[in-house]
Amino acid sequence: MVDVHCHLDSQAFAQDLPGVVRRAVQRGVKLLVTVGVNLESARRSLGIAEEFPEVYVALGVHPHYAKEADEETYRHLEELTHHPKVRAIGETGLDLFRNLSPPEVQEEAFRRQISLAKERGLPMVIHCREASSEVLRILEEEGTPEAGGMIHCFSGDWTLARAFLDRGFHLSFSGVITYPGVEELREVLRKVPLDRLLSETDAPFLAPGPHRGKRNEPAFVEETVKAMASIKGESFEEMEGVTEDNAFTVFGF
Ligand SMILES: [Zn+2]
Ligand SMILES: [Zn+2]
Repeated sequence: MVDVHCHLDSQAFAQDLPGVVRRAVQRGVKLLVTVGVNLESARRSLGIAEEFPEVYVALGVHPHYAKEADEETYRHLEELTHHPKVRAIGETGLDLFRNLSPPEVQEEAFRRQISLAKERGLPMVIHCREASSEVLRILEEEGTPEAGGMIHCFSGDWTLARAFLDRGFHLSFSGVITYPGVEELREVLRKVPLDRLLSETDAPFLAPGPHRGKRNEPAFVEETVKAMASIKGESFEEMEGVTEDNAFTVFGF
């Protein structure tokens, strides 16, 4: 298995990070992509990736932090992308649900990171919350980077899924698909081609079914892969293999 999106630099893991990574590896998680959400977080994430061979990094400016980023930030981020463990730009995108940065500032940060992904030949990790038409419009205007990318924690309808798939993106599913009341999302998952699926935890958030409400950790991606397999009527082994292959393709492992 692969956890393509977690936040290992979160305070939630400060006390027991080696145990968290070890438990994931023991459960069969081969690779983890930890996501830096601003410059400090990107630096912490790289420190973690240097410590654990299974950990790789996506770095960028999360929409929540867009208002704190200036020219210096983007210059330093660009420098950090040359680190051999950096495999993607993000998470970036728009979050018009929480709006912790003004929408126009989020948009500017998103456009800059699309350019950076193109320049560096890296895939993108996109966070899209209550902002699907805006995200699609910006991707239309800027063009999808050649290396493609993933929509993290995908939770839209089939029309949106189709729009991202048509633009070459992979869709990443989290523990949310194990929750009650998301039959529409499970229906979308049934239609997504196997070669475009990814699995993630978004740990420490969004713990899957049996762990819901507790701290999430990468080992729990197993519950999500199991749920994905049963929703799509595939064996666990098949889903495990498919999500690994796709992660290798997207992140160039
Ligand atoms: Zn996110
Ligand atoms: Zn995230």
